[in-house]
Amino acid sequence: MALVNLQEILKKHDGAVGAFSTYDLFTVQGVIQGAEEAGLPVIAMIGAPVLNQPGNDYIGEILVDLARRASVPVCIFLDHAKDYATCMKAIRLGFSTVMIDGSHLSIEENIAITNKVTEAAHSLGVSVEAEVGALAGLEDGEEVKAAKMTNPQHVAQFLAATSVDGLAVSIGNAHGLYKGKPNLNFDLLQEIAKNCEIPLILHGGTGLSREQFAKGISLGIKKINIGTEVKKVYMETFITTHEKNVSAWDMIAVPQACKNAVAAMVKRELEFFAAGWKTMC
Ligand SMILES: [Zn+2]
Repeated sequence: MALVNLQEILKKHDGAVGAFSTYDLFTVQGVIQGAEEAGLPVIAMIGAPVLNQPGNDYIGEILVDLARRASVPVCIFLDHAKDYATCMKAIRLGFSTVMIDGSHLSIEENIAITNKVTEAAHSLGVSVEAEVGALAGLEDGEEVKAAKMTNPQHVAQFLAATSVDGLAVSIGNAHGLYKGKPNLNFDLLQEIAKNCEIPLILHGGTGLSREQFAKGISLGIKKINIGTEVKKVYMETFITTHEKNVSAWDMIAVPQACKNAVAAMVKRELEFFAAGWKTMC
């Protein structure tokens, strides 16, 4: 149907859109298959450290190609780029959206790098996501030890000086698996949302409860990132399917089962983010 950018995919509905990390052909196919089965738009992401692996430009090209062939709107998204060059690489590959993550920098430096990327991206119709505050946890092999909760004053300063299409916030959410029960600060989210006219984004979706998703969406979260759950579903299915008939070394059935398991998870989450959450508010 269409390769669309973040701005296009997030407008015109009252729920949130799921964004799922991809790593290879089968995770890419699984994410798009799940969206087609749900009949809902989806955001397919690839992390900057994954895209920057030798030979992985090709995975980016596959993402763009499959998005163009999909029966639902698909946004192809570069996740957590820390530098201008990786954003430009993704744009050259045909990505519709890039995230420039200057959350580890000072707010002034974050604004400067975000503006540099946004100027280039917007001139080509590519959307931009940024982050204020920083999440703790492990993302694509890169670890952040301590979280920096989003400061609403920094958000106001950031939004006045930039023109991004979405803003990721740190309100107790984390990358990877949560250590113990995740505790989200919804008062802080509400305060951030009060003066924010662009969509807010929640990273670290794996391990959050249905109630937390519903509350977040009701307060203005429009995009929810799921990375670890993709890997977990894929690898668990890989191991159990392989172990049923180890000597077959079945390179047809095993990856297909993994792809279908990812698709089922994506369909379930997209349906909840689009509509299911309303039953809980
Ligand atoms: Zn993230």
